[in-house]
Amino acid sequence: MKLICGASNQDLLAITDLCAVFAAAGVHCVDVAADAAVVRAARKGLDWAQSRGGIRPSLMVSISDGKDAHFRKAWFDPACCPIDCLRPCRHVCPAEAIGEQGGIQLSRCYGCGRCLPTCPLGLIDEHDQRLELKDLGHLLVSVRPDAVEIHTAPGRAEAFESTVAAVIAAQVPLQWMGVSCGLEGHGLTVEALASELWQRHGCLRRFGQRPLWQLDGRPMSGDVGPGTARVAVALWRELLPWAPPGPLQLAGGTNSHTIRYLSGDNGPAGIAFGGIARKLLQPWLLEAQARHVSLREWPEGWHAALAQAKKLVGPWLLRQPGSQSC
Ligand code: SF4
Ligand code: SF4
Repeated sequence: MKLICGASNQDLLAITDLCAVFAAAGVHCVDVAADAAVVRAARKGLDWAQSRGGIRPSLMVSISDGKDAHFRKAWFDPACCPIDCLRPCRHVCPAEAIGEQGGIQLSRCYGCGRCLPTCPLGLIDEHDQRLELKDLGHLLVSVRPDAVEIHTAPGRAEAFESTVAAVIAAQVPLQWMGVSCGLEGHGLTVEALASELWQRHGCLRRFGQRPLWQLDGRPMSGDVGPGTARVAVALWRELLPWAPPGPLQLAGGTNSHTIRYLSGDNGPAGIAFGGIARKLLQPWLLEAQARHVSLREWPEGWHAALAQAKKLVGPWLLRQPGSQSC
């Protein structure tokens, strides 16, 4: 079970608290941006939870072999905004990255893209936030994560191979290498997606790696409703017979409804919660920041946030592991 903090999320205070809360709730892995300051913030949260008797989750960093919505930030120049604008961009932002005045607080923006179409003047741009391949080795050596996840997309076999080669060249011991890929926006059939994953499988085996697959069902949907959970589970079920060997984890569109759609199945080998995990804790994170303390220093907020995290994670901890194996 994994907490996804967001591949572009650089809100350090929130990341420390998110990691502390979800580690205490029992997740096995936290997945953060490939950024030294973010990794430091995540470790601070994991150290804190471990010092209070928790089991320490693995720390994973996410990278991408090409352009990817998870690795971008939105931006606009507030000086260009009309003074009487009702700021629709602000109202759709799930990360509260856009205030009543000014531009986007970039550390909070995780690139979901909801604000992009809302500006009547088309002032909002997206900026690529990917780590360049030439910087990857240095980053991995300096932060020494337990695992790496590579986001890939159809048609990027060569870029994937170069990325894997750069990770291996860094000679950082990794517990596993994850591969994240989805169907949405690529106009592919499930069989074609599986064929892309088989190609990635061949590549990883050539490098002596055992893959862990992450199926990005509804990427960045931010939807907490049952519809998105059902679609993500349906895709997982459809892909399962075609997928290459290795655990297949479900992400993207996962939420508290997901488990309901898996009754009767052994379920996926793992589950990752991103948007829903951040959304559940957001009221307490914002309140803690307004009080100029961390959630860890505010007992009432900590207990309320931990209860929410346990409610999401708890049913998964009670499930039997999925039937899949490496
Ligand atoms: S709506 Fe999404 S892309 Fe726009 S500022 Fe907020 S987090 Fe960033
Ligand atoms: S909607 Fe456009 S004009 Fe209005 S505040 Fe947002 S970016 Fe500025």
